[in-house]
Amino acid sequence: MSTEASAPASRIVVVGSLNADLTIYCDRLPLPGETLHGHGFAVNPGGKSANQAVAASKLGGRVSLVGAIGDDPNGTMLLDSTAHAGVDVSRVRRAADAATGVAIISVDAAGENSIIISAGANGTLAPADVDAAVDLFDDAAVACLCLEVGLDTVMAAAQAARNAGATVLLNLSPYAEVPQALVRLSDVLLVNAHEASLFLGKEAIPGTDFDAAEWEPLRKQFADRGLQRVLVTLGAHGSVVLDSNAAGAQPITFIAPTKVAAVDTTGAGDAFTGAVAVRLAAGESLAEAAAFASVAAALATTKKGTQAAYPDAAEVRLVRS
Ligand code: ADP
Repeated sequence: MSTEASAPASRIVVVGSLNADLTIYCDRLPLPGETLHGHGFAVNPGGKSANQAVAASKLGGRVSLVGAIGDDPNGTMLLDSTAHAGVDVSRVRRAADAATGVAIISVDAAGENSIIISAGANGTLAPADVDAAVDLFDDAAVACLCLEVGLDTVMAAAQAARNAGATVLLNLSPYAEVPQALVRLSDVLLVNAHEASLFLGKEAIPGTDFDAAEWEPLRKQFADRGLQRVLVTLGAHGSVVLDSNAAGAQPITFIAPTKVAAVDTTGAGDAFTGAVAVRLAAGESLAEAAAFASVAAALATTKKGTQAAYPDAAEVRLVRS
């Protein structure tokens, strides 16, 4: 979708979660029943949707966030951080009787993480919140959705976006089985390798050495489920674009990883998602958007934390030039 130079950029509407990230850094992740000494604790703004909104905004997107927080200091911290990043937070509701969502995160020396989330106020986000924000979709190019809020809310947002002609970008994370009706409303599915294998019912998906022939059955399986455009992220191994609609281009594209010294991969997938949303809103193809997002997400792993580690467009351009 292109706009006149003088017209405001098309909007990206992110509907979903905001969490306070409580992170402990440790040498390795604890085993079940084990207690370890960590070294360093931080409270940071997070939540998949807040992260995606901030990533997109820092990269130049015009972003509105629809979500819910508690009437508590964590909620204020989240509202401030997202607004500070340039996100329109006018539709983030303060829930009177729920605490702000929380994520307990452990990050090991290799930058690998494990995460438990407690939904809190995110669990109160309802289709009525989407109805109250439906005007945002009027000039939206992309709606960015994930599964940290209730499926009925995600469905309502996907339907509102579809009604307005916006591209529905569904990040199937954290993984849950979703109704086929939601799959049908999704224009682009974004999954990591683990989520892809769960969605397709495969034990594993092709690993480190990219071979297009190995990906063809997966492309077909997604297409048979009604998903023509899929992005599969492979962490430090890069990402794969499955675009069964790619006009005049190849349907399977490997995006090589950008080589970086990763210190914290928390929220890399959210940086990737937000970046894809920005570039799709700017009218790029899925493969072009993924190539840009791959650099943005790699840069996001080079600093501790999530939102504070996300790059701006100039930083991404510098690496790509
Ligand atoms: P998630 O955080 O959702 O599990 P991934 O771990 O697959 O997602 O990471 C998303 C994307 O971030 C990858 O496709 C890649 O582009 C980038 N990325 C993640 N980790 C690294 C890394 N160590 N080095 C370079 N890029 C990375």
